Amino acid sequence: MHDSVPAHDPSCLFCRILAGEIPSSRVLETPDAVAILDIQPVNFGHVLLVPRLHHADLAELPDDVAARVATLLPRLARAIQAACKADGLNVVINNGRAAGQTVFHGHWHLVPRFVGDAVRWPWPQGRYEGDAMAVTQAAIALQLTST
Ligand code: 5GP
Ligand code: ZN
Repeated sequence: MHDSVPAHDPSCLFCRILAGEIPSSRVLETPDAVAILDIQPVNFGHVLLVPRLHHADLAELPDDVAARVATLLPRLARAIQAACKADGLNVVINNGRAAGQTVFHGHWHLVPRFVGDAVRWPWPQGRYEGDAMAVTQAAIALQLTST
C-alpha cells in the first residue's frame, strides 16, 4: 500500500459502508474486500465488489490488493448468475469521472444480464485509420516499460 493513502477515508461513502456506519446488503466478506448489493441496481443482483482499503480508483490500487480482490470475481459471478437465474453478466469498472465513476473508492460492478433486458450494451465502437493503431500501441507499450 502507498504510505500516503489512508486505509480509511471518513469522507468516503464506501469506507463508511465498510465500517458499518451506513447499512448495506452484504453478500460476501473476506479480509480484502466486501461485496454488497448496489442500492440502484441496473438489474436485481447488481453487486459491487469493494476492496477494504481506500483507493480512489483502479489505477491507485496496489497490484497485490487488486490481485487478491479480483480472485473473488469468478466465484461471485457464478453465485450471482445462479441466484438471479441470469443469462449473462457484465463485469465493469468505471475508472475516473469521464468513465462514469461517481464513488471515488475503486470497485468492480457485477451486473447480471438477461436476454432482452433494457441495458444498452455494447457501447459504440470505432476503427483505427492510417498509423493510429501502431502509434497507440507504441504509446501504451512505452508507458508499460516505465511502470
Ligand atoms: P460508480 O458510479 O462509482 O462506478 O459506482 C457507484 C455505485 O454505487 C453506483 O452504481 C450507485 O448506485 C452505488 N451507490 C451509491 N450510493 C450507494 C449506497 O449508499 N449504498 C450502496 N449499496 N450503493 C450505492
Ligand atoms: Zn473509501
